[in-house]
Amino acid sequence: MKSGRPRENVTDDSTGLPRQRISVLRLGHRRERDKRITSHLGLTARAFGADEVILAGEEDESALETWRTVTTRFGGSFDCRYEAKPMAWLRKFAQDAGDGEPGVIVHLTMYGEPWRAAVGVIERNRPMVVVVGGTKVPGEVFRLATHNVSVGNQPHSEVAALGVFLESFVGPLEESEYFAGGEIRVVPSLDRKKVITSDD
Ligand code: SAM
Repeated sequence: MKSGRPRENVTDDSTGLPRQRISVLRLGHRRERDKRITSHLGLTARAFGADEVILAGEEDESALETWRTVTTRFGGSFDCRYEAKPMAWLRKFAQDAGDGEPGVIVHLTMYGEPWRAAVGVIERNRPMVVVVGGTKVPGEVFRLATHNVSVGNQPHSEVAALGVFLESFVGPLEESEYFAGGEIRVVPSLDRKKVITSDD
């Protein structure tokens, strides 16, 4: 398992290939109805090893601001942005992830193949986007996906699905390396809140 993935495109110590950039695409955000869950989705993406969250659906500056603020306070170089045309973006990514070669599209859906099997076969040397839905997910997403992946075949939440998938796919993170440069660092403790601040 990887122990942390430096942000810059350094090579993977085991394969010598460029580290994989992982984005999360949140489809169908509804500004009022999904406010908290979308905010938590981006925080989960960041905390479990994604490099970026792309918000689609209704524009929502408050979600972007939350993610930027947490990244400033707790470190790392997590990116976030709004995408007005997610399906056009996804179609392009399926052909060209930025270097002329196709990206890997993982669509989280309760109808997909079990995630425990998928994490062993999903390509690790190409930029990847993990797609989660909100409102009705267009059938085209299933066709564009390299992998349609389920986290159990029961309906639950995009936050739970993303957290479980990323933890299984990325593995343990060396947080001091991965979230370097923050104003605050939490020190795990058995019985109290312990933090180190940049002033200490
Ligand atoms: N109404 C949406 C649709 O038409 O598919 C689904 C709503 S569901 C609450 C929102 C998202 O959570 C889904 O698009 C999927 O990405 C994710 N999700 C929910 N249950 C899941 C599961 N068992 N496995 C993987 N992803 C799941």
